[in-house]
Amino acid sequence: MRPDWSPLKARVSNRMARHFCISPFRLRNRGPMVSFTFDDTPKSAAAVGVPILEAYDARATFYVAGGLVDKWSGHWDGISGDEIVTLHRQGHEIACHTFSHTRTTDLDAATLAAEIEDNRRYLRGLDPSIRIENFAYPYGLGSVLRKGQLGKIFHSSRGIIPGVNAGVADLQFLRATPLINRDIDRDGIDRMFDEAVASNGWLIFYSHDVAAEPSPYGCTPSLLRHALDAASRRNVEILSVAQALRSAGA
Ligand SMILES: [Zn+2]
Repeated sequence: MRPDWSPLKARVSNRMARHFCISPFRLRNRGPMVSFTFDDTPKSAAAVGVPILEAYDARATFYVAGGLVDKWSGHWDGISGDEIVTLHRQGHEIACHTFSHTRTTDLDAATLAAEIEDNRRYLRGLDPSIRIENFAYPYGLGSVLRKGQLGKIFHSSRGIIPGVNAGVADLQFLRATPLINRDIDRDGIDRMFDEAVASNGWLIFYSHDVAAEPSPYGCTPSLLRHALDAASRRNVEILSVAQALRSAGA
């Protein structure tokens, strides 16, 4: 049996992606910002998460992989095509997560381009006005080899290395903090907001399902509400990734 080097390759590439081929950009946002993002896009992110977000007049970013639409993931039901169109028409951002949810470290330039094109074609087929401008790495794994290519196609690419984006950020490897019950509690959320305020930074949360009993990768409605309250109390503006990039002058 041949050894499977792909997980090791992915880990090494992810580590290298933090330090090499960076797209340094000085954020010019006037005040601190927060973005709420949902990967893969479970049905509950839209059905349960969106009404909570909209109670705060917040728009979120949904990183969709067309190949996961309407499918059972093992943890949740995937969003439907109609629900994606509804999110888009409500002003939420639909963004790219490859088509088949493949690690970018397992893709060469041609196969990554094909993944992006397949996803773009799928989303345009749902609604021709859906324009995908931003990307999230499947499994959060940054690819040192593919960053340059992604930078020519997308305004930003988001990983899952926690922290606040402040000062000079790497637009092709944006930091994101889990809004996942297993990984963060209310105090942890408050600390991240305090850091965002102190650094005039951009805090990006990522999550998956939103449910009273979430998967190991999701959050409860009350944790989402806590984060939205924490933003409101500190006057941190809640923006989609596309909106935040515009506010930052990107
Ligand atoms: Zn994903």
